[in-house]
Amino acid sequence: MPPFKFLSFIIFNILSYSCTNSTGQRSPDVFLSENFSYSELSNETKEILELWQPYLDSLIKNEKFNVDSSVWDTEIDSIGGIELYYHIKQADGPINAEILNIQKLDSNKYSVKTAFYNLSESGKSNNPSLNCIYDIVIRKKGKAFKVYNFLSEYTEDWSKKEVGNIVYHYTPSYPFNLIKAKTMSKYCDSLAKFFSMESPIINYYIFKNSQETFYSMGFLYNRDMYDTYQIFGRADPNRNIVYCGNNSEIFPHEIVHLYTHKYYSTLHSFFDEGFAEYLDFSIQTKKISKRKVMANYLNNNPQINLSNILELDDRIGNGTSYKYDISCLLVEKLLEKDPKQGLHKILSGGTKNEDFYATVTSILGIEKREINNVIRGWLTNY
Ligand SMILES: [Zn+2]
Repeated sequence: MPPFKFLSFIIFNILSYSCTNSTGQRSPDVFLSENFSYSELSNETKEILELWQPYLDSLIKNEKFNVDSSVWDTEIDSIGGIELYYHIKQADGPINAEILNIQKLDSNKYSVKTAFYNLSESGKSNNPSLNCIYDIVIRKKGKAFKVYNFLSEYTEDWSKKEVGNIVYHYTPSYPFNLIKAKTMSKYCDSLAKFFSMESPIINYYIFKNSQETFYSMGFLYNRDMYDTYQIFGRADPNRNIVYCGNNSEIFPHEIVHLYTHKYYSTLHSFFDEGFAEYLDFSIQTKKISKRKVMANYLNNNPQINLSNILELDDRIGNGTSYKYDISCLLVEKLLEKDPKQGLHKILSGGTKNEDFYATVTSILGIEKREINNVIRGWLTNY
């Protein structure tokens, strides 16, 4: 072993101290990159590793998201780390993390980059696949280091404008369109009426595309960040934030999610997307053309059984998906059949798959096995 390797081996083991389990064996879940610059390992760098490494270990292992105020600056962001937690929990199997680099940005500020790997064997290879690369800013606050909210760092110099219940955040060079903003705010009023509740104050961030949206959360890489369509949105009901990566003041789909995620915890994920599409006034013509694509695809694939729609591979090409487009059609039919009970069952019918099928059966009066023929029948109109 060359001397520097030996040194790095010792340092690695010292720093992994907090990742040992009760039997004293070193856990492989969080490790330092071999490219780590050990020769530049200052006391401050060690301090940062002692903070970040055990935190990652708990993040990977915990079944539930916990706020850690000893790590995150919770005065600025009371639920710091939630984006990363939910992202890595979407993985099918176990995950591990490699701390790639710690970079000093200024006298009290560091950037720490971490790569996460999916360890489950995929069909193609036994090798772990890259899940995401995440970047955080760690600052000295008083005597201790704290992890900083990346969004507030990224949008620090952005412009802000309040329009009705929406606070828009955008880059100073963005040509803000007040008319569109007012349309969106009026839409919030109509949603409040629809749901019979008050509209929350919504922080609406306008990003250029998917790439910038994820970047603002701290991601340098994840699977969805560099997709072809480059339109992405996310609603965060805990912070009343909508991340709108479509470069526009108008993104009804995400606003609907904000209301439903905030007030209806028993909404099935399949209805969640279809319902947001159903209430999205900005995509009316797109909805029809997507149904045509869907009808054509299903005609060419008679073997596909839509009665098992929740188990099917969701993305079917040309920007269409069962979860968005068939679900939207289903929501439309449920509300047509029984506006009051249909709405109640969609929003509060339950999150389990059997709850989804029970809603369809109770409102439309069809059994699970009949869903395939019924949906195919609806699509013949397109
Ligand atoms: Zn959505």
